[in-house]
Amino acid sequence: MNSAPRQPDLYAVLGNPVEHSRSPRIHQLFAEQCGQTIRYERRRVEPGAFAATLAALRAEGARGCNVTVPCKFDAARAAQRLSERAALASAANTLGWDDAGVLWGDNTDGIGLLRDLARLLDAPADTALHARPVLLLGAGGAAAGVLGALVQAGAPSVAVWNRSTDRAAALVAAHLALAQRHGCALAAVAQPIAGAALVINATASSLGGDALQLPAGVLGPGVLAYDLMYAAAPTVFVAQASAAGARAADGLGMLVEQAAESFALWRGVRPRTAPVLAQLDAELRGRPMP
Ligand code: NAP
Repeated sequence: MNSAPRQPDLYAVLGNPVEHSRSPRIHQLFAEQCGQTIRYERRRVEPGAFAATLAALRAEGARGCNVTVPCKFDAARAAQRLSERAALASAANTLGWDDAGVLWGDNTDGIGLLRDLARLLDAPADTALHARPVLLLGAGGAAAGVLGALVQAGAPSVAVWNRSTDRAAALVAAHLALAQRHGCALAAVAQPIAGAALVINATASSLGGDALQLPAGVLGPGVLAYDLMYAAAPTVFVAQASAAGARAADGLGMLVEQAAESFALWRGVRPRTAPVLAQLDAELRGRPMP
């Protein structure tokens, strides 16, 4: 009996803008490494069209998707079952349909960031933030996704600043009980404050090429400045931090790490990230492979 060859499972990244996303390349590299065959594409979400875009993807037979700016809150609302960390963030970056067709949602941004910070700080992920006060800039989907992980990883304090102060206050309020349980001093601040050892830019400022107006002393020697955005050339925030004497990194490593968690949730196997990060770095920035 002839049977038609099985189509590779379909996944996608949904967002706007999404054209720049390296996620298809990363998941292709993960699949090759794990001996699997998948299709991973990009889907641009027009304003107000998240549910329709997701439904169209499902109608094509997709098994899951990643969700990026600015749709992570929509994704959490769309999910019929949310992980604890996605519920805490009210934001999801990973969706999947189980065998019964139920849409589940999770958020791998926090663990992805922690794994990359551990790499940069050359420390285990569960202790890398001990004794490191954190300043988190932004209160959108990405900030919501990483705040719980920063608190749980043992940061002694996290100050959250956002252009729209009410969003920072709401994000902090949602995480206060968790912070108390972990002995973390968590507060929303009206201005970015100096004194943090780790300054994380989770705003979309670098996407628009805008420099954040940061008071003197926020960025400087002894500070690790981390921009969640990544690019071929140094992002505005990375350039700003480097000019101020801080050590700076962009979010390419986090992108690879959060993707590995998504891949593991969908495919049941966690790929190795170091070779994929090296490959991406080489492709994006023309650096030689180590
Ligand atoms: P989002 O939900 O749309 O939130 C945007 C955030 O940026 C809000 O806090 C917003 O402030 C702020 N913002 C936008 N433009 C700004 C400006 N010019 N100055 C100051 N603040 C500004 O987006 P998101 O999902 O949180 O994504 C944020 C960034 O993180 C994006 O660049 C995204 O690519 C990146 N990201 C990277 C990874 C990774 O794996 N590397 C993962 C997730 C996200 P208001 O509330 O005042 O509007």
